[in-house]
Amino acid sequence: MSYETVREADPAVADALEGERGRQNDTLAMIASENHVSEAVMEAQSSELTNKYAEGYPGERYYGGCEYADDVEELAIDRAKELWGADHVNVQPHSGSQANMGVYLGVLEPGDKILSLDLTHGGHLSHGHPANFAGQVYEVEQYKVDEETGYIDYEGLHDHAEEFDPDIIVSGYSAYPREVDFERIQEAADAVDAYHLADIAHITGLVAAGVHESPVGVADFVTGSTHKTIRAGRGGIIMCDEEYADDIDAAVFPGSQGGPLMHNVAGKAVGFGEALAPEFEQYAQQTVDNAVALGERLKEHGLSLVSGGTDNHLVLIDLRPSHPDTTGKEVEEALEEAGIVLNANTVPGETRSAFNPSGIRAGTPGLTTRGFDEDACREVADLIYKVVDAPHDDDVVAEVSDRVDEMTNEYTLYE
Ligand SMILES: *Cc1c(COP(=O)(O)O)cnc(C)c1O
Repeated sequence: MSYETVREADPAVADALEGERGRQNDTLAMIASENHVSEAVMEAQSSELTNKYAEGYPGERYYGGCEYADDVEELAIDRAKELWGADHVNVQPHSGSQANMGVYLGVLEPGDKILSLDLTHGGHLSHGHPANFAGQVYEVEQYKVDEETGYIDYEGLHDHAEEFDPDIIVSGYSAYPREVDFERIQEAADAVDAYHLADIAHITGLVAAGVHESPVGVADFVTGSTHKTIRAGRGGIIMCDEEYADDIDAAVFPGSQGGPLMHNVAGKAVGFGEALAPEFEQYAQQTVDNAVALGERLKEHGLSLVSGGTDNHLVLIDLRPSHPDTTGKEVEEALEEAGIVLNANTVPGETRSAFNPSGIRAGTPGLTTRGFDEDACREVADLIYKVVDAPHDDDVVAEVSDRVDEMTNEYTLYE
């Protein structure tokens, strides 16, 4: 995409946009929640639909002139139904957090109880952290992973549910490298007559492609993001059975949002269409194969992975066993200097702070979009290890940076 017109109108913004394109082209995006969409998705997102008010839903809008808005929203909905096999889909949430908000508002009353995974164990702010509205409006208790194994403590969750008697149990996580057993969590929810919200924000694409078990048809509500493992542009989505359709739709609009971002809904339609093509299954499988290869090589270097490995698109490295004096933030900063962009992350049993935690999280969705295979990811693991082992050695960082330059030139991204 060219920013010629922006440049003419506004050189300062054009500088920033071109800077960002250059940054994405020239670095390895390994933040597990990030990816790179196609030019087609970006073009749809920058369409005239940004001008259009379309409050309501297809065929029942509060404004005139919505025939094309209806077309794109219907395309997005139909494609989503095909991708995930859901009865009812709402494609209007502006983000994954707002999708969760839609579910809470749709079926809970203020003061109701949420049982969700602890943030430092891989949960998400929108699952009831005190800094998020969900933690302020609802009563929240949190379950944990087993700190020995790194896996969800399903039995502990079951017991916790019996004790706390929640109105809703939230599954689905931000920094959990293993397959989630949604059926097992559904059993815990059934035992206490609670709703089950499966938030698949991170694995939306993996579930669509069938490389991760699906909670659709198991959990009452499934929320997702459209920009992590599926490349449909920034946004959220809610799926549920027909019986909850009206409550969910009303909670999104007018409950918590105004006019939908129809240009983003158009991006979702295009990205979902791309994900229906057979190549998407290969992409999703390659994303997982790449994460496994990355993790195995990191382990060969002596690094410790939470849960010992991965089943999905991300690995979580606990630096404490191998590098007790090195923090996640130090490694994040040194790696960014070398052109590998990922994030410091808390680990189960965290002994430092959330701002300077003991772990780093690394994902493969972005690298896989660039065309990286397992061999390339093993080499990336070698590069990461070099920096983890010597984050303050300028020569090492420079050497890794040179190799990253070569790799990003070989696996090109945006023109
Ligand atoms: C990323 C994520 C979300 C959505 O985040 P937004 O930034 O609001 O789109 C929701 N839940 C989980 C578990 C996530 O990891």
